[in-house]
Amino acid sequence: MRFPLAMTAALAGYVVRNKLRPPPEWQKNAAAEPDRANPFRILADTPQGARARSPHPMIRRRFPLVLMLEPLHACNLTCTGCGRIREYESTITERVPLEECLAAVEECGAPMVSICGGEPMMYPQIGELAAGILARDRFIYLCTNGMFIRRRLREFRPDRRFFFNVHLDGMQKSHDLAVEKEGVFAEAIEGIRAAKQAGFQVATNTTVYKETDMKEIEELFEYLEQFGVDGHQLSPAYGYSAVNHREIFLTREDVHEKFRDIDRLSKRFKLNQTPMYLEFLKGARELPCTAWGNPTYNVKGWKGPCYLITDQHHKTFEELMTRTPWESYGQGNDPRCEHCMVHCGYEPSAALGINASPADSLRMLSWALG
Ligand code: SF4
Ligand code: SF4
Repeated sequence: MRFPLAMTAALAGYVVRNKLRPPPEWQKNAAAEPDRANPFRILADTPQGARARSPHPMIRRRFPLVLMLEPLHACNLTCTGCGRIREYESTITERVPLEECLAAVEECGAPMVSICGGEPMMYPQIGELAAGILARDRFIYLCTNGMFIRRRLREFRPDRRFFFNVHLDGMQKSHDLAVEKEGVFAEAIEGIRAAKQAGFQVATNTTVYKETDMKEIEELFEYLEQFGVDGHQLSPAYGYSAVNHREIFLTREDVHEKFRDIDRLSKRFKLNQTPMYLEFLKGARELPCTAWGNPTYNVKGWKGPCYLITDQHHKTFEELMTRTPWESYGQGNDPRCEHCMVHCGYEPSAALGINASPADSLRMLSWALG
């Protein structure tokens, strides 16, 4: 089974409840800026035959699925493609206090929390934070570069709702090059080994850049099989405005090409992404952006509109939901979104069944139970 049954059932229940009755306080529409006013276009399934049709009703039923919680932005690494350590350079020494992190979890109410950063394993109370989120009955993906797993493992308890999600961008040579430090791959592998031996669930997270060789990613997944890794995530790199190395990022066409062979990979390995999102990545399906599905909270507050681009930080979650002109973003609405296909903007659309047929819903079910 892809995820624990209780997790699948809890997430499905949450989605159905909120689809039927989305919290009314989050549904007010912020006025779009006049020059960018243009409702999301939901396109036909084949990009060639794309034609505008009425927006899917879910576009205007907003609720969060995954909270991206960044308790700090400090990191022990300086990866070439990292926007965070650059965008938040002026607040890199600040941390969100533990109580404030937990208040954000409650305020937003998303059933899943991705603890990210920065390097969250550098957060002094990371064990308490994870325990506090689990006590609120949320699922956790703790996204880490893996360098501190062995050192801090004893601060955690294995739980069916908790995953370490270790960042690996390739085999040893390529990964160490991407993170600009030798020995990182080896330590991350030792971290994975230790966590699995201690009974934790461990997934991996790989960013696909222009120079990524997808054969090497296959080799990486093969290599990880010996440790009993519980699943993999793949995400195309996005050109943050904070990152200078524009040449490493992908256009939409590049993404389609990189993911052309993804079906073969998803048959061999457990990919933790929905089949609809993978189809979107390979260019066989269109999805609109639903950035409100993965809201981000950090030292500056609720980051709007999304994990990637920052137009404003809001004091409250309701303010983020109701003052963000959501329909001004996404491909065709904002040039900054033109080549974005990242999971935090589009995986919620797939999970919510936007542009899905009844057959897609059955595929989703068999994927979740598979
Ligand atoms: S490990 Fe993560 S947070 Fe740290 S520099 Fe790399 S991408 Fe950024
Ligand atoms: S398309 Fe990407 S960059 Fe644009 S709002 Fe959505 S997630 Fe953010």
